[in-house]
Amino acid sequence: MYIKDIKATRVLDSRGVPTIKTFVWTKDGVGSAIVPSGTSAGKKEACELRDGGVRYFGQDVSKAIKKINTTIKKKLVNSFVIDQKEIDQMLIDLDGTNNKSKLGGNAILSVSQAVLKAAANELQIPVHKYVAGLNKTKKQKMPIPHLNIINGGQHAGNNLSFQEFQIVPMFNSFEENIKASVEIYHTLKKDLEKKYGLSAINVGYEGGFCPQLESSFDALSLIQDAIDKCKYTKKVKLAVDAAANEFYVRNKYLVDGKEHTSLEMIDYYKKIIKEYKLVSIEDPFSEDDKKHWSCFLKEVSKTKVIGDDLLATNPRLIKDAVKKRYCNGLLLKINQIGTITEAIDAFNIAKKAEWNVQVSHRSGDTEDAFVADLAYGLASDSVKFGAPARGERTCKYNRLLEIEAFKNYSL
Ligand code: PEP
Ligand code: MG
Repeated sequence: MYIKDIKATRVLDSRGVPTIKTFVWTKDGVGSAIVPSGTSAGKKEACELRDGGVRYFGQDVSKAIKKINTTIKKKLVNSFVIDQKEIDQMLIDLDGTNNKSKLGGNAILSVSQAVLKAAANELQIPVHKYVAGLNKTKKQKMPIPHLNIINGGQHAGNNLSFQEFQIVPMFNSFEENIKASVEIYHTLKKDLEKKYGLSAINVGYEGGFCPQLESSFDALSLIQDAIDKCKYTKKVKLAVDAAANEFYVRNKYLVDGKEHTSLEMIDYYKKIIKEYKLVSIEDPFSEDDKKHWSCFLKEVSKTKVIGDDLLATNPRLIKDAVKKRYCNGLLLKINQIGTITEAIDAFNIAKKAEWNVQVSHRSGDTEDAFVADLAYGLASDSVKFGAPARGERTCKYNRLLEIEAFKNYSL
């Protein structure tokens, strides 16, 4: 049950950018984890330690790897692998900064996550079951997937201001949800090609298409047409991640080629909610425009307002947002905060406030499907792993598919 050895090495994320893979060995087993990385990252996220300089254009992670292979290894070897909380606290203390800038949030998370996997392997139980045990989850459940099938913002080379246009299938099983989503994805692909030519079916960072559209209304209406064509009108809804930090310039929002004030954005969102009945809007305002988060929340009833860059999966920021009523949903990204224990704390604070919690990938992701196990283990309300295409996205949907298919097996 004790940690015998820890080793980290450089691997690549889905954008071709270096990241860290860490292995944690116990007497009878091993656990490994690869950390993802964001493109439209919030300012309050844990620090991602990168080398700077010329190698990999400054993006290398050799310093972070060295810290794992020396300082962190020295501290954690011989710790009890199932003491996740204590180990995470040791990592936090060893770093000693409030944004994990000394060791790097990327270095710390890779170890925290690999420790969890090593513990699950040592106990010979599935990772999701181990997560459920850590948080005393009463009943594990399949989350509802939000699939990002048109990409914009920083994730695509088109003019769309909003970053993600998502479909949200609401069937009774995960398998049916994925089937409907795949049919809609391919219908949209055909429609885009027919209407705009081959270049419209190129995909962005998260596997969604990147047509050269001028407005969010056009993107939503193309997706709605694909849903209707597939006869899923009643069962598949729409959602967006505006990622508004990225188009907030000098206190104005640059949307669809025009400047909008915060109040005009409230009207804009009310209009798309009315027209497309969105189930959720993520990051409708910049993290620096908190006042309008609360104004907006007062004006919406059924649509969930999800905080991503605003909250950075940070328990302290989430508590503040609950108090000030900025939003009613949390996007949970483990690398924003840097340890599994703090991510679980973030989950629990949000659930206590009766918020919706959505477990999320990053735009720079990898073949590590851990977040699928995390979502199922915590019984999160929903997940977003991108389009139903590209390996780093499908490995997470596929993991939930296999868990559902073999419910009675230890998998
Ligand atoms: C997001 O903003 O929700 C997202 C997944 O993008 P990134 O990883 O670039 O922050
Ligand atoms: Mg987001």
